[in-house]
Amino acid sequence: MQLFTCPFCGPRAETEFHFGGDAGNLRPEGDVEANAWTDYLYFRNNRRGAAREIWMHLPCREVFMMERDTLTHEVIATEALVPEEQA
Ligand SMILES: [Zn+2]
Repeated sequence: MQLFTCPFCGPRAETEFHFGGDAGNLRPEGDVEANAWTDYLYFRNNRRGAAREIWMHLPCREVFMMERDTLTHEVIATEALVPEEQA
């Protein structure tokens, strides 16, 4: 079992986490064409190597950024989306 590091709770088992999607895949705003929704929902870059992703730690319900190598599954870094002093 792999350990992921929640920025708020520390290292925990990977089964406590939920994948939230690729970072930077922004939801279309306003009146947009169907192609924009299709791109947002179904098409991914499927990067090879370091990728920035959004994850949630289920016990604390915090959402954070994880940089992970998609080839080795190594977790490079995790960080809160909002600095603690602004939360
Ligand atoms: Zn946590």
